[in-house]
Amino acid sequence: MIKVQKGTKDILPNEMSVWHFMEEKAKAVFTSYGAKEIRTPIFEATELFARGVGDTTDIVNKEMYTFEKSERSLTLRPENTAGVVRSFIENGMHRLPSPVKLWYKGPMFRYERPQAGRQRQFHQVGVEVFGIKQPTADAEVILMAINYLKELGLKELTVELNSLGCPKCRENFKTKLKEVIKPYLDCLCEDCQSRYDKNPLRLLDCKSPECQQIYSKPEIQAVIQGDFICEDCSNHFNELLGYLDELGVKYTRNKLLVRGLDYYNRTVFEIKSNNLGSQNAVCGGGRYDSLVRNLGGEDTPAIGFAMGMERLASLIGEKDESKLRAFVISNNANEALKLSEDMRSNGISCEFDLTGKKFVKQLEKASKIAQYAVIIGEDELANNQVSVKNLDTGEQKTVSREEYIKFIV
Ligand code: ATP
Ligand code: MG
Repeated sequence: MIKVQKGTKDILPNEMSVWHFMEEKAKAVFTSYGAKEIRTPIFEATELFARGVGDTTDIVNKEMYTFEKSERSLTLRPENTAGVVRSFIENGMHRLPSPVKLWYKGPMFRYERPQAGRQRQFHQVGVEVFGIKQPTADAEVILMAINYLKELGLKELTVELNSLGCPKCRENFKTKLKEVIKPYLDCLCEDCQSRYDKNPLRLLDCKSPECQQIYSKPEIQAVIQGDFICEDCSNHFNELLGYLDELGVKYTRNKLLVRGLDYYNRTVFEIKSNNLGSQNAVCGGGRYDSLVRNLGGEDTPAIGFAMGMERLASLIGEKDESKLRAFVISNNANEALKLSEDMRSNGISCEFDLTGKKFVKQLEKASKIAQYAVIIGEDELANNQVSVKNLDTGEQKTVSREEYIKFIV
């Protein structure tokens, strides 16, 4: 018996209405901000992620599904910003009127330890906005995320914000952070020991309680909580906070928020749910002003976010299965086929009994799966009529074959 792979799941027909709901709302909300959908391939050159996500990240170091074909190293995408940026550059989208707003949805692959809210194949829906360095774009992108979550009916969410500054101001911060952490270096976990040299900012992101205890020491907290960002970065951030305040968006400043990917600068944000267990982040995003250039494109500021759709689905819970609009009741297969096709061509979903069961049995089935029964018995057939029965109210009308459609509302 061959089973589904560890960390992967079937999305079964009875779960589909939730997925369609998430996808339809994504299209509606993101389109209302002028964003267009983009679909990029599921595998890309490994180098794209090494350069685009960063080779000091967990994603690139531990979590990628990489394979070789014709001596090329390929990787199943672990996230989609790198792919969208590649496509932006390759298709000369910097020539389009700015800003270029793109959204996507689709499967991502990370070799992680599967647990609640963490899979090896999972889905993300996300947005990337290119071409705007002003914090108006930061505000708009954060609003896109919040409004999408609102449209999904999700409540009890917290928005956490931070500014990572620019590479220049961050350098000072890194030096100071390394200085105060140095005395504890031997006590840190293996990951943090390697982060210390390669990517000290990521120390703050460590999930080990022992490391977090060290980072909560007063002299280390003094550095973390201190203001390290330069005047320009600080103005950018304050302007963003001003817009959010004006709109009544609630947020908390979290100076430990550094995000897993290397490419972020200035604004980073996460949206967490109070109704999920330990994997409680539903959305992560931030500004990545140097990524387009780093991947060989023209200097183009950008900001975006990605959301984990499995986590969203678990918060949405059940959605009512949508019923068929109509079920044809008939003992005449030819007539049932004709009527069914007629309704389908008029946009009405319907089925009929393919096995020639008794009328009562057909009606029983109809009331379980459809809103209307369209009955064509001997009398109806003789008079060129059909009976339309509303299965919720029990109301039934016998009408002509020409106009029965308008009784199925
Ligand atoms: P985490 O800290 O949970 O590992 P991350 O920083 O790796 O998250 P991002 O790369 O920012 O996550 O991805 C954005 C969102 O995608 C996350 O907030 C989460 O909702 C979802 N996500 C990330 N990895 C997984 C996974 N393995 N399984 C399911 N959802 C995931
Ligand atoms: Mg992760």
